Amino acid sequence: MTKNILVLPGDGIGPEVMAQVGRVLDWFAAKRGLGMTITQDLIGGCAYDRDGVPLAPATLKAARAADAILLGAVGGPKWSKVAYDKRPEAGLLMLRKELELFANLRPAIVFDALLEASTLKPEVVRGLDIMIVRELTSGVYFGEPRGIETLPNGERRGVNTQVYTTSEILRIARVAFELARQRSKKVCSCEKSNVMESGILWREEVTKLHAAEYADVELSHMYADNCAMQLLRNPKQFDVIVTDNLFGDVLSDEASMLTGSLGMLPSASLGAADASGKRPAMYEPIHGSAPDIAGKGIANPLASILSAAMMFRYSFGWMPEADALESAVESVLNAGIRTPDIAQPGLKTVGTAAMGDAVLAALEA
Ligand code: NAD
Repeated sequence: MTKNILVLPGDGIGPEVMAQVGRVLDWFAAKRGLGMTITQDLIGGCAYDRDGVPLAPATLKAARAADAILLGAVGGPKWSKVAYDKRPEAGLLMLRKELELFANLRPAIVFDALLEASTLKPEVVRGLDIMIVRELTSGVYFGEPRGIETLPNGERRGVNTQVYTTSEILRIARVAFELARQRSKKVCSCEKSNVMESGILWREEVTKLHAAEYADVELSHMYADNCAMQLLRNPKQFDVIVTDNLFGDVLSDEASMLTGSLGMLPSASLGAADASGKRPAMYEPIHGSAPDIAGKGIANPLASILSAAMMFRYSFGWMPEADALESAVESVLNAGIRTPDIAQPGLKTVGTAAMGDAVLAALEA
């Protein structure tokens, strides 16, 4: 079955890294006969320049129709004075909200060849492979009431509200349990039930769901602050971590830095499956548009290439192809091929296109 993929390269290094992803997809179409129809459109600052908005209605329509979206990155200093709701980042937030991409999956994997890139001791992170599942469309970033008000005494007060409903907790917990079944069957659920009612509800609902449907998976609970500490102390104790929007924001950034490089880490954002089983999904590197190196041809395309591997695995069920692509990336690293961001000082490096060449050569091999 042919899959419709919408490619949104975005701004800065986005188009540079996505060009390498395009070559990889072409390789799988030509050499493995994978059926893919690829369309490309604008998002972010470049869309604002063309359409006056960071996400045009026609682009959103194409995103809804696609089987999966591959995104580069958005933003840059050029658009720093643009009104808040027209900023490049607003286009990305709108896309996530409109497609209800409530589950954000962020793997933190340490490749043996990049052990030295982590700031932690090699024995702490060697072989690390954890998955953070963050709730993305509710919680304190969306709860009402919110705002900044002036009190009668002239003092100002900022308000945000943490809210979660049963259904919001259950659907994200389900994603975590299902993922754990494909991995080491271990889920750690993180909240602050010691001080927050929304955390109490979170823990109760996750516990009930586990007993009812996922007793084959090992479930543990942890306060989010303890999890932040454990991620540094002994990260390999975790397999899948499931948590809310706010704690997930912090914990996933912390976990990503265990690996030492932003240019290596992919992510997936998933919505709910419809009656036909189709699940909205967007795959993107966790890094931004890196304006400091945009146009220099030195950006690391591996996070974007690994995002395509996640798309193969989670949207299309193309497991052997996902494995092949991840192995190709690993063998490139094992061969010592490095873009500047992952190179030891003084060592020879390659540019974005040469890294793409190396991945294609590894696939051929
Ligand atoms: P960034 O991730 O763009 O860059 C941080 C640092 O990492 C920079 O030094 C950059 O050169 C380096 N870097 C990032 N990706 C790299 C890669 N693939 N290869 C080599 N080096 C890489 O974060 P920032 O500087 O805070 O943000 C820049 C812009 O990107 C801002 O406009 C921000 O809003 C936007 N942003 C977008 C996204 C997204 O599109 N999902 C995410 C984060 C930031």
